[in-house]
Amino acid sequence: MPDTVFPAPELGEPYLLTPGPLTTSYAVKQAMLRDWGSWDDDFRAMTRDMRRRLLALIGPGAEAYDCVPIQGSGSYCVEAMLGSFVPRDGKVLVLANGAYGLRAAKTMEYLGRAFHLLDKGDYLPPRGAEVAEILAADPAITHVLAIHCETSSGILNPVEEIAEVTRAAGRKLLIDSMSAFGALPLHPAELGCVAFVSSANKCIEGVPGFGFVIARTDEIEAAKGNCHSLSLDVHDQWANMEKSGQWRFTPPTHTVAAFLEALKMHEAEGGVSERGARYIRNRDVMVAGLRALGFETLLADRWLSPIITTFFCPEDPAFSFAGFYEGMKSRGFIIYPGKLTVVESFRIGCIGRMDEHVMTRVVEAAKETLADMGVASAAPPAAALEERKKLTD
Ligand SMILES: *Cc1c(COP(=O)(O)O)cnc(C)c1O
Repeated sequence: MPDTVFPAPELGEPYLLTPGPLTTSYAVKQAMLRDWGSWDDDFRAMTRDMRRRLLALIGPGAEAYDCVPIQGSGSYCVEAMLGSFVPRDGKVLVLANGAYGLRAAKTMEYLGRAFHLLDKGDYLPPRGAEVAEILAADPAITHVLAIHCETSSGILNPVEEIAEVTRAAGRKLLIDSMSAFGALPLHPAELGCVAFVSSANKCIEGVPGFGFVIARTDEIEAAKGNCHSLSLDVHDQWANMEKSGQWRFTPPTHTVAAFLEALKMHEAEGGVSERGARYIRNRDVMVAGLRALGFETLLADRWLSPIITTFFCPEDPAFSFAGFYEGMKSRGFIIYPGKLTVVESFRIGCIGRMDEHVMTRVVEAAKETLADMGVASAAPPAAALEERKKLTD
């Protein structure tokens, strides 16, 4: 059956309007209903197929890259990438505008390797000109780390702009494309990006359990001996996989099977462009509907990703996030708390196995929940709009 319909999740499960784990298809869940031997040829073939399919998503120049899956959640892959590709005497410019950029900086602290943190606060984008300035002032910087979509606000960072100045300054670009890869185009060869990471449970719509590093093969070869950690050593994992076709340590077999099914569904849907187009429709229907109820987005349209959107909590004293959350949950939708430090907010994800018809129901559910709570206006407090003015262009 072509999976063009988006049935409610099985057995009354709510939709997860979250940035992962997210709502997956029945076929993806069903793919986990058997056991695989990690050493067996069948599983080795699955790993090979998965690596090949992921590389096919990066477009022109893919032959210079390879794909190395790493057990664990996405943060394990970020740490594996930083620990493996940044030499011990290297220095990273970490571009942060939210929790994931700050987590990367904290990872550098743990690694005990040099870094310069550009912290733009909750949501302001790091721009090309300021990156160029920092690189010009500090010749010790060898790498730049950019977050593609900063999932804590939902901002789509200007990676092309950052890539351009990084290339011009002769430094190497690393990207955390965790929440964007598979739905937003990412062509590392064109960007001059030496390595990026993503994980199984975001836009490819698999279940959690591992992530993957996609890196230039010559960079992987040169990474030998760099890593601080055996289990996170990208070179060692790669060398072993090339030699034996196996993961070094126990692989997440069921997650890989589910992910392979998710990759096939991604291809059947029309690949990155169609996956992205569905998420854009999800966002557009949801944002327009909530704005019509009086809600305001943190970000102007230009910076809104089709991944997750941050809304200000209404000023109306009858509103509370906890009450809104419960009302949405009782109607079949799990939403996500906000992460802004200055004003109250909440987030609604657009990714996962759902389409714009589901999003229409999300808007309905929000309308009913506000009515139940006795919220007359969903308009945010003036302080929120003041905050937003900082984002001027
Ligand atoms: C999800 C995500 C991660 C990884 O988070 P985990 O909880 O470790 O899976 C890293 N960066 C970004 C931008 C993300 O969205």
